[in-house]
Order: sequence, then C-alpha cells, then structure tokens
Amino acid sequence: MEYKRNCPKCGKVLYYTNKHNRNAIEKKGTLCMSCSSVIKNKKHGNNKKFIERYGTKGNNTGTDNAFFGKKHTKISKQRRTKRYSIPRTQRK
Ligand SMILES: [Zn+2]
Repeated sequence: MEYKRNCPKCGKVLYYTNKHNRNAIEKKGTLCMSCSSVIKNKKHGNNKKFIERYGTKGNNTGTDNAFFGKKHTKISKQRRTKRYSIPRTQRK
C-alpha cells in the first residue's frame, strides 16, 4: 500500500511506502524534490561566492560571463605587471 501526501507548495502528490516516514515528513512540512531544489537555488542565488564558483560554469562566454564587458583598469594592470616582474626573492 502506498501512503501519499501533497507538497505544501505546489500540491504535487508524493508517494511514500512507509506510513511512519510519511507522517514524519508531513510534520516537518518538507517540500517535494523540485520545490526544495528551487529554494536551495534561491538560497545560493544570494550567495556571491557560490555564483562566482558555479554561476558561470559551462557558459563562461559572452554575456553569460560575469566579467563580460568589464576591463581591468590600467592602474591595476600596471600594478600587477610590476609586481610579477620583480623576482620573488626581491619582493617585499
Ligand atoms: Zn512541490
């Protein structure tokens, strides 16, 4: 026999093989897989580090690239060139 409950968010019917399991999950108000993953994504959507790390994965070109259209300023470029042109032993 199957035990079912509805996702509190989208109303999708979820089946459980175990009554105890179903009741425990119902008590918690757990959402279905797709709803809970949306919430997870939203959570990470506010996480800058997560976006930097995974946000551009697989489509790191064109407008999808977070760095698209931006340029390093001349100053920071020069700074870096200067820094790395100095041998490691002579760096302060
Ligand atoms: Zn749902």
